[in-house]
Amino acid sequence: MLRVTEIFRSIQGESTHAGRPCTFVRLTGCPMRCVWCDSEYTFTGGDHMSLDAITAQVRAFDCRLVEVTGGEPLAQPAALTLIERLCSEDYEVLIETGGFVSTEGVDSRASIILDVKCPASGEEARNHWPNLQRLRAGQDEVKFVIADAGDWAYALEKIKQHDLIKRARAVLISPAWGALDLKEVADWISSSGLDVRMQLQLHKYVWGPEARGV
Ligand code: SF4
Repeated sequence: MLRVTEIFRSIQGESTHAGRPCTFVRLTGCPMRCVWCDSEYTFTGGDHMSLDAITAQVRAFDCRLVEVTGGEPLAQPAALTLIERLCSEDYEVLIETGGFVSTEGVDSRASIILDVKCPASGEEARNHWPNLQRLRAGQDEVKFVIADAGDWAYALEKIKQHDLIKRARAVLISPAWGALDLKEVADWISSSGLDVRMQLQLHKYVWGPEARGV
């Protein structure tokens, strides 16, 4: 059984998969408290669903791309079994994880979008650094949500320190909603000399920052 906040079909709003039709399985609960978190509604509530019921709902949406997200999806151990099942049904599976739970047991067929928490999130101390060693260059992506210039400097430091350009399929720089002048962020990125990717949360531009389940 897993505690589930919502399952819905929409377009992918983030990562190099942005814009693609996608079914989202949003699991309930997260032990972190990032100050800019946009999914606090997942912290409590949710419905207990069997893995059979979840996979039946995913099948009904009939999308090749499926993202398991949260909350923190890997905080519920049974999520690993769900991911394995979805991979075995030949879905292209993305895991959006906050980066503080080990990714070690995740099915190797799934692609991981791994957050590195920057200082302004308030949760930098909980980054689980061994996750960076497990990134696969052809498959996994790493994401820095930045909320100020200090976060950008931190992202640059960690990208270089851990050789993330080579280690990941993409390094995503995602400005926290409303926190930064986007032109300034674009300038930082274009002048960095690094092959990183500015990421805007596409779904928020389409449906607004507060929309859920779309
Ligand atoms: S890890 Fe994700 S879900 Fe958890 S508090 Fe941070 S942003 Fe919110």
